[in-house]
Amino acid sequence: MSLPRAQARVDLAAIERNCMRLRGELKGETQLCAVVKANGYGHGVLPCARAALKGGASWLAVASLEEAREVRQALDTRLLIMGPLCADELEQALGLNVEVVLWRERHVQRAQQLAAAAGVRARVHIKLDSGMGRLGCKDPQEASRAAAAAIAASDVDLAGVMTHFATADEPAGEFFKEQLERFSSWAQPIKRSHPQLVVHAANSAATLRCPRAHFDMVRCGIAIYGLDPFGEDPLERRLEPALELSSRVAEVKRYQPGESAGYGRRFFAERETHLAVLPIGYGDGWRRGLSNNAQVLIGGRSYPLVGTISMDSLTVDLGPAADAVSMCGSEAVLIGKQGTQRITAEQVARALDTINYEVTCGLTPRVTRVYDRHDGVEGVDAP
Ligand SMILES: *Cc1c(COP(=O)(O)O)cnc(C)c1O
Repeated sequence: MSLPRAQARVDLAAIERNCMRLRGELKGETQLCAVVKANGYGHGVLPCARAALKGGASWLAVASLEEAREVRQALDTRLLIMGPLCADELEQALGLNVEVVLWRERHVQRAQQLAAAAGVRARVHIKLDSGMGRLGCKDPQEASRAAAAAIAASDVDLAGVMTHFATADEPAGEFFKEQLERFSSWAQPIKRSHPQLVVHAANSAATLRCPRAHFDMVRCGIAIYGLDPFGEDPLERRLEPALELSSRVAEVKRYQPGESAGYGRRFFAERETHLAVLPIGYGDGWRRGLSNNAQVLIGGRSYPLVGTISMDSLTVDLGPAADAVSMCGSEAVLIGKQGTQRITAEQVARALDTINYEVTCGLTPRVTRVYDRHDGVEGVDAP
């Protein structure tokens, strides 16, 4: 068996099941929008988007025009660009039949002009900044004027109204409730007079913790990949991590006490031991902050990553046992399962003082993505 130097294996059936599990949280009418920005959180955009649609998502969302173009070339689902667009990008987005987020009257006027000139309809979502402090309009009355302008404009459809939460992942969130209150009282009258429009606010964390925040649609990213929005073990919320990151043991060498390995000599053997060299490093997104600060699974056991992580390789301490030498050529798992052992993206994130989102988004294009499906029986590949 040939093992790649750095591989992210993505289980598309797990993404499907995560979407079904999220759908299970929703009332019958509430739709699931799968967020596939940033190359599907590092998992690969199109395979994940297709798996999410199979799992019951009915919308897709991305952050940028270029991401939308890639999705639109392959899929004709309803697709929302959540990020800001300059005039030129807005024109192209409308040409791709992609829905956009706007929040000022002048944005709506521009959308009207561009749509009329191109002979298309502009489907827009008006965003209230209920407390995130990024995009959207802070003043509810001004946001309502933008919505009214969209309703009035002949070539514009008001497709939705939305907001985004700043603290949905913090369990004791007073501010979350404040945002929810502010958004609800703004959106309700608009929805009452325009029942066809889609009201949406919840990210993964809000979807899992607060049914009142679901409205007509939820926008889930992190949870569809089986990562926990609260940074805990995903299995506790019945989410299945879809991504497994692996490498292989390219070399095993014996070390005598006092010998060092790696840049800056940040590892010294304290006893006789064996080091495995894995051809994966920060050039693959396995961050240098994990130097002397992570575990690796080889042969069903967990070993410490030791020394400095290089761009292209890292070292693992296999210990003194003579059979270490026979591990040369073995698979090494950096995120995922091997035997009874497991390493989660959440654990890696904690070691780096960051969040699981950054761990998978940070995997670079040099990591080969492969896709498979694990349905039912563990280890059996469905065609
Ligand atoms: C990224 C994003 C989401 C998805 O958030 P998750 O925490 O990954 O579920 C939802 N809405 C907006 C506006 C976003 O930018």
